[in-house]
Amino acid sequence: MMDSVHERHRRAIVDRVPSWYRPLPHLVLPSLVGLAALIFAVTRIHALRPIELLAIPATVLVAFAFEWRVHRSVLHRRVPGLGIIYDRHELQHHVVFTDEDMPMRSARELQLILMPAYAVLLIALVNAPLAYLASRFVAPNVGYIYLVTSMGFFLTYEWMHLAYHLPEAHPIGRIRLVARLREHHRRHHAPRLMRAWNFNVTVPVFDWIHGTTWSPEREAGRPARRGSRGRSPAPGRS
Ligand SMILES: [Zn+2]
Ligand SMILES: [Zn+2]
Repeated sequence: MMDSVHERHRRAIVDRVPSWYRPLPHLVLPSLVGLAALIFAVTRIHALRPIELLAIPATVLVAFAFEWRVHRSVLHRRVPGLGIIYDRHELQHHVVFTDEDMPMRSARELQLILMPAYAVLLIALVNAPLAYLASRFVAPNVGYIYLVTSMGFFLTYEWMHLAYHLPEAHPIGRIRLVARLREHHRRHHAPRLMRAWNFNVTVPVFDWIHGTTWSPEREAGRPARRGSRGRSPAPGRS
């Protein structure tokens, strides 16, 4: 079923995971840092007004858009200065895991699924000034809600992406919602589709908005069951 070329390329990449790599700290520590930042921000919220809660959907919407854009334009195109991200994603993650071979086979393969451990610090560093501006110019609570939501989104992204690549028998993968979202990501992992379709990893909101939701029905020209828009299918366009 799996061709030997894929197996050979897969093995070459997995073999390059350094011997010092430790899967458990990579899984746990960034999540703890993210949760700590999130809990800190929650404890700073005082005298909350209901209208300030609108910062949650606003932040989530921006995060969906950011996820779609970065995945399409940075993870699948070599941008000067950010080539290492492209290498990690398209030349490693997508070579090891294809639409026909999604599950991880060992804990060491977490290195090829999770973002680098320092990414959580980068996310916090990028979001802190934005949260400060929101707290200064909108309302203090809005800044903290932005921080809570953006860190929560980052953690959700990491955990959901991991869920999609868990071994087949894992109980988390059997949850119906996870299975449905995983199918969206699995289709993105098809080499001929990865540069043009299904860029959202969490919830495919901006794939719906941009018309980049691929399905077999859509390719066959049949009415799609959900999430389809008017653009004609052109797998491989970039
Ligand atoms: Zn993936
Ligand atoms: Zn991708």
